[in-house]
Amino acid sequence: MLKKMTHKLTHFHAGQKRSNQLDQPQLPAALPYYTEHRASISTQRTSLSEWSKREGSMESTRSTLERRPKANYSIEDFVIHRTLGTGSFGRVHLAQSRRNLRFYAIKVLNKEKVVRLKQVDHTNSEQGILLSISHPFIINLWGTFQDATNLYMIMDFVHGGELFTLLRKAQGGRFPDPVAKFYAAEVAMALNYLHTHDIVYRDLKPENILLADDGHIKIADFGFAKHCEGTTWTLCGTPDYLAPEVVNQSRYNKSVDWYALGVLIFEMLFGQPPFHEPEISPMALYNKISKGPSTIQWPPFFNPRATDLILKLMETDPSKRYGNMRNGAGDVFAHPWFKEVVWQNLLTKNISPPYIPKTISDGDASAFERYPEDECSSKYGRPGLDLFGHLFEEWDYTA
Ligand code: AMP
Repeated sequence: MLKKMTHKLTHFHAGQKRSNQLDQPQLPAALPYYTEHRASISTQRTSLSEWSKREGSMESTRSTLERRPKANYSIEDFVIHRTLGTGSFGRVHLAQSRRNLRFYAIKVLNKEKVVRLKQVDHTNSEQGILLSISHPFIINLWGTFQDATNLYMIMDFVHGGELFTLLRKAQGGRFPDPVAKFYAAEVAMALNYLHTHDIVYRDLKPENILLADDGHIKIADFGFAKHCEGTTWTLCGTPDYLAPEVVNQSRYNKSVDWYALGVLIFEMLFGQPPFHEPEISPMALYNKISKGPSTIQWPPFFNPRATDLILKLMETDPSKRYGNMRNGAGDVFAHPWFKEVVWQNLLTKNISPPYIPKTISDGDASAFERYPEDECSSKYGRPGLDLFGHLFEEWDYTA
């Protein structure tokens, strides 16, 4: 089974960016072997069972939370600036509102690409979930709209860049124990909020954690988030962060997010994920994930309490995994590694973050990597043949 799935996944790895090893021949073992973003993957299961049809239906993506009232936006309301990030189906731009002069991040998704890559349900789910949730450590979506070619999501612009970039720039490519603990604690609170509302996030990784100008986190990219009261089985996430139950094609639920938190803590403390090796094949990676954390070589400088929590989060059996047992997130919050965290103070941001991004103006995007700009933004909002609009009913036409 693993072999069959790995074959499918290999296809997606083809598009995955990794740094050329020749660029970094002298790196010691603890440093990251790659410096570029890791691609998220998603495959459609092939089974035609009733169950899988339900999985793909809009019913399963509808949140129990109330959607916020819709705000009316159109592309003419914004001046589009540089690219902040790119994804498989589009890009995220810095943009300034002509109405209130505030800066926003606009995620633009090409409808044809979304349909071709079978991400219609995921994209509608991302919109529905983000429009109904509100949490200090999660990105804020103001509204969405579409034109003939694209879907648009208007979000607050998060100035401080990605945790990924901060980690790669940190001394030794890793964070000191208290720094990793701060970010892990905020992620744990955001996951608990999502899980309380029956939302599984499914793509935790440093690339998707942004830093606000106050130094607190904002989790972005809800492209794989799903409202799920029971279990689900779509294969999606980022290979290094996939839980064993995903790799083994079992049904899963919020357990996968707690597993990914274990991987994230390891990566923040060590500089690379636990099973990562240069040039590792997908097959070898998924075999290691399946075997579980007993094969991890623990760096001697790890705080034993951190090691203990990582082991409990990366537990292979989801029913014994921290975060996924009877006490839910309570077990994670009460773990000795988090002993000094006053959770209520963290939620109200009464704990000073370890790093405050330096921004010189409201539209300062210097914390973000540069991406090649194309001319696509000049075509935003233009009329044209609209073949797929009917698949995105909740996205208003406002142009
Ligand atoms: P996504 O396609 O949602 O993963 O976004 C791709 C990249 O765009 C992210 O990894 C961030 O670097 C950037 N990005 C996304 N949303 C925002 C935002 N609200 N503010 C600033 N940058 C963002």
